[in-house]
Amino acid sequence: MASPLAKARLTDYLLVAETISAVIPALERGGHKVQEEPRRMTIHSLYATNRLGVAAGLLASLLVVSPLPGDEPYARSRTYDLEHSRIALRFDLAHKRVLGDVTHTLSILRDGTTRIAFDSVGLTIENVTVNKFPVKFETTAEKLIVPLPGGAKAGEKFDVSLRYEGKPTKGMYFIVPDKDYPDRPIQIWTQGESEDTRYYLPTYDYPNDRLTTETILTVPASWLTVSNGKLISVSDAGKGLRTWDWRETVPSSTYLITVVAGEFEEVKDAWRGVPVTYYAPKGRGDRLSVNYSRTPAMMDLFSKKLGVEYAWEKYAQVMVDDFVAGGMENSSATTNTSSSLNHPKIAAEMLTNEDGLISHELGHQWFGDLVTCKDWGDIWLNEGFATFMENVWTEAHYGRDQADYERWESGRGWFSQPNLFDKPIVRYDFEDSSEFDGNAYTKGGWVLHVLRSQLGDDAFYRGLKHYLEANRGKNVVTADLAKAIEESSHVNVDQFFSQWLYGAGAPKFDLGYSYDRDKHQVELTVKQTQKVEGRVGIFHLPVNVEITTASGPKLYSVTVSKAEQVFTFSADSAPLMVLFDKGDNILKSAEFHKEKKEWLYQLKNADEFADRADAVSTLEKIKNDDEAASALGNALNNDKFWGLRATAADALGKIGSPAASKQLRAGLDSANEPWVRYHIVSALGSFKDDSAIAAKLTEIAKADRSYRARAAALQALGRLKAPDALVTLEAAISEDSPDGYLRNAALRGLGPLGDDKAVSLLEQWSVPGKPIESRTAAIRSLASLEKNNQGITKQIAGYLSEPNFPVRMAAVFALGGRGDAIAVPALEALLKSNDLSIEMVPMIKRQIASLKKTAATRLTPPNGDGGESAAAASETSGDSEVVLERLDKLEHLVQEMNERLKAIETHLAPPKP
Ligand SMILES: [Zn+2]
Repeated sequence: MASPLAKARLTDYLLVAETISAVIPALERGGHKVQEEPRRMTIHSLYATNRLGVAAGLLASLLVVSPLPGDEPYARSRTYDLEHSRIALRFDLAHKRVLGDVTHTLSILRDGTTRIAFDSVGLTIENVTVNKFPVKFETTAEKLIVPLPGGAKAGEKFDVSLRYEGKPTKGMYFIVPDKDYPDRPIQIWTQGESEDTRYYLPTYDYPNDRLTTETILTVPASWLTVSNGKLISVSDAGKGLRTWDWRETVPSSTYLITVVAGEFEEVKDAWRGVPVTYYAPKGRGDRLSVNYSRTPAMMDLFSKKLGVEYAWEKYAQVMVDDFVAGGMENSSATTNTSSSLNHPKIAAEMLTNEDGLISHELGHQWFGDLVTCKDWGDIWLNEGFATFMENVWTEAHYGRDQADYERWESGRGWFSQPNLFDKPIVRYDFEDSSEFDGNAYTKGGWVLHVLRSQLGDDAFYRGLKHYLEANRGKNVVTADLAKAIEESSHVNVDQFFSQWLYGAGAPKFDLGYSYDRDKHQVELTVKQTQKVEGRVGIFHLPVNVEITTASGPKLYSVTVSKAEQVFTFSADSAPLMVLFDKGDNILKSAEFHKEKKEWLYQLKNADEFADRADAVSTLEKIKNDDEAASALGNALNNDKFWGLRATAADALGKIGSPAASKQLRAGLDSANEPWVRYHIVSALGSFKDDSAIAAKLTEIAKADRSYRARAAALQALGRLKAPDALVTLEAAISEDSPDGYLRNAALRGLGPLGDDKAVSLLEQWSVPGKPIESRTAAIRSLASLEKNNQGITKQIAGYLSEPNFPVRMAAVFALGGRGDAIAVPALEALLKSNDLSIEMVPMIKRQIASLKKTAATRLTPPNGDGGESAAAASETSGDSEVVLERLDKLEHLVQEMNERLKAIETHLAPPKP
């Protein structure tokens, strides 16, 4: 992987995996295919296997797919209200243990309550008192049960104190140096959402309760700590320790509790007197400002737009290594992956940098933290809003075109996942597919945009303000949002909510028009072609239609409400352009039957990005048409918005004709922005057998002014198996670049290139001590070379016992794809080791089965009709070649996804410039 994946919070991260998992079945041949249906995956539990706690790469996690018992869909009935927790923690770093001393203050909700239960998994409870009196408690695998002497009455208050210790398998993670990576800064961090706080803290672990906290952390004097709320004091605790006292006076849910401690550096900022702080692992503090300094401007924008000021005592963002997700919106103290700390030179090549991630998590401070979904079935009230808030920042800071571009891309991404279509956003049946899906994020964010465009900004934002104020500090369901909008704007949104939130799918339009010269009329036929079944119905929508004739444009509003309708509009002459849903304000797909000349006109003349982009995506389907290629080339060179130019470059790559190649090369000469050059170079990588392109890519790989373009060129050269690619890739590997950016790209390119001369170089970059990202790239590429060299197989097999999870997984898949059966005993030994998560087992078994199959067919002696077994053998070895090649393609795809994820937490984020 190019980077330790994802800017996505755990669940967002899973989404990425789900998105790409559509590709996975194609990787698996014959009888052993992975689940077609995306399943909830446990990244967390992978970490239990991960002594060093290194972040799992996307590819690895993708393949670590297994059905798990899902989160509880409905909110629990409660017997008590947890009001306040005083959480004092110490850490045994050598053994990765937590030592806790916790007092929960709670009040009873039901008369006659004789016992209360806390969620607690894997923790050893040493002592429990109720109002300071010791009690006999019980524990089960998932609960701590505390008796209340004599039964309690509603309203009665108790202080329940617990002393416990444990070695958390999830929820809390310890990142420590070891012999191969002796300089790693020590980091302890937590990740509560969705139901993992219970692994390090016995508590009420479901969103439908809110409490204030005091978090008291005693750590070595040289460490920093971060937790929710205000820092009250830091005091000497003796023996080289200090005690940090944090207090959060605004109540929030227990999945939003955070504890971070370790060797960090800090940069202090402020917004209207509220402390704003950024933290990086020691040694990377100089990267904070370049990536994070727009935070106060975002706090300002969101406070103004929403009419509700940022509510917490401070805003901290802590970047940690090996984070299990991209970001997590803990109340007042977000945790983000340290891969968001881009090298300043790479950051300079990213138009929107990490703003997607930063604005998403900040948006959650209102939607998620201040107002929290009551149950996981309503998770879109957190995630859809946070996704929408990214777009609010983008529009305000980068302009309307950029916001439109990101939304246009995300809408297409949503439609490319058919498994999402028949599921409503609000749903409670997610046992075998995570509720944190593309409906909660992408569609949720989109639906808010549709609502905004229907209500208008005034009514929409008045509704949000009322929703936030009426529900501040409370848990909500979707109906609370509908109610707030109706109360504030007097617009009934029941039908809107019924089709978009409780219903499934989105309209798929088939469109066509004719012009009647006698009547001077345009007749527009609108068909809704989505299959009406289950929760998918016919949509009822206001739609803007714009008709442009020689005398100018005219805008009409129609209401679509049937499977097929015809609308007529007067027009003084035949239209030059007819736009349905001008500007793309409805989540929809549309097949509009127009002539080529109309698409060409639309590409050149439509005002809004989405209408021009729709023309691009239609024209790219016309193959071998020089006029289309030349129009796209013109757009690539001359469009006023870079996103359209990038979209045109992508389209020319897909066309793949000589005319398209000519346009792309010309585009390179005129495109200065790294975010455009990246798209052009990547597109050039799809032209096979064109020596001029290989020469151009070589030149770019060596000397382009953009690192992103150079990395794209290095990988394209490998994919194209260009004649002199080896020399170019080797040179890039020996060269220093920011964070090894070019080296890792070149190491990745060596696998697809398939030149055995690269073996010793790849061996050098595979060994412990090298950067993890370089190692996983090198190991994967190494497995593609010298297929008969058992020394290589043994070297890779040696990495199976490493603590670094991404290295381990890279080795498992490299061995499976390599096809050398001598790896079988090592893989079988791995199966017997005691630190595997159950998810790894079937994966490893699949690799073993594949290797054994290959060996068996190879060993079958030729006989009378030996042709068949020889064919079988070659088919099988071809099989692993195919798998490997597809894995390489997948890796390329994953990198593209990474590029996109650079800024955005959601799956299928808008392409990162
Ligand atoms: Zn989120």
